[in-house]
Amino acid sequence: MKALQYREIGGQPELVEIETPEPGPGQVRLKVTAAGACHSDSFIMSLSAEDYTFGLPLTLGHEGAGIVDKLGEGVSGVDVGDSVAVYGPQGCGRCYECSQGKENYCRRAAELGIAPPGLGAPGAMAEYMIVNNARFLLPLGDLDPVANVALTDAGLTPYHAIKASLPKLVPGSTAVVIGAGGLGHVGIQILRAISPATVIALDLGADKLALAREVGAHHALPSDASAADAIRDLTGGHGVEAVFDFVTIQPTIELGRAVTQIGGDQVLIGAGAGTLPVGMLAAPYESSVRAPYWGSRSELFEVFELARTGLVHVETEVFSLDDAVSAYQKLHDGTLRGRAVVVP
Ligand code: NAD
Ligand code: ZN
Ligand code: ZN
Repeated sequence: MKALQYREIGGQPELVEIETPEPGPGQVRLKVTAAGACHSDSFIMSLSAEDYTFGLPLTLGHEGAGIVDKLGEGVSGVDVGDSVAVYGPQGCGRCYECSQGKENYCRRAAELGIAPPGLGAPGAMAEYMIVNNARFLLPLGDLDPVANVALTDAGLTPYHAIKASLPKLVPGSTAVVIGAGGLGHVGIQILRAISPATVIALDLGADKLALAREVGAHHALPSDASAADAIRDLTGGHGVEAVFDFVTIQPTIELGRAVTQIGGDQVLIGAGAGTLPVGMLAAPYESSVRAPYWGSRSELFEVFELARTGLVHVETEVFSLDDAVSAYQKLHDGTLRGRAVVVP
């Protein structure tokens, strides 16, 4: 089968021919219908040999959907022909966090060598993929896999991040979204769908700001030195209840701190290397900083319900597997609108 692999540190992803995998006991093979390209893929491919821990060669793709194609011995709960999406941040299924569906925070995943598809295990940018347990497969039903595959990360991650701040996003509150890309443009819609907050989006280019407005941001502003004052003006000088930073480089993290109000949340989702000092007088009173990772299994069900009811959609640019390298190029260049989805 064809697969898109990262094969050497510092190299470009390559389309290669590899053996079609067979499902072992308990495993499920999917015929992939769609795979999303995330900025985290670009991030891991930018790491030095010292920092890169995901194995080589790595078949990319941690947002995956497919048709159940073959069942390993002893698998029940899914049938050949089912259209499913893959829950990526897989855990042991048995620890305290996993028992609540929070497999993204499994206590034992590292010790047991469990890694998400595309981030250690072979991913979805291939004609077929193996999923280790039927528990990780959510029924898509009649949701289009190409239009919805990115919800497994670009939907789930902002949903998880926003849900924890909902008690603060009361009527009259304001939320800031920094970075209206793959995750951010879905985050704006989630905020509009599940909170009454006024949403201010920040990004760099006019096209991204236009997209932010189209998907529901009340205000969309250039992410530059004038942004903090502009946000203070829009909030009567108070600042905002929550900042969702999908970039997390030094300028955005400092901007976030500057506009977080007393008691507010600064939520760092982007994998940038920005850092903040802590201290009694170094941050707004009672403010919190969180760095959430992906989301829980039950939250992914909730995200698909937002899609079913039409409240959230993904702006999608579709690429063939043969053309997947150019999807990553556009992601790297920042010229995508929404998410790049690869269809084998
Ligand atoms: P993306 O490239 O699709 O979107 C990033 C957006 O940020 C783009 O629109 C870009 O123009 C904008 N941007 C860049 N610099 C900016 C700045 N200084 N100010 C404002 N906007 C700026 O990326 P994505 O796939 O949406 O991923 C976003 C980030 O989230 C990445 O760092 C990724 O690694 C990370 N991520 C984290 C998790 C998690 O679990 N915490 C999950 C998925 C992705
Ligand atoms: Zn991702
Ligand atoms: Zn666990």
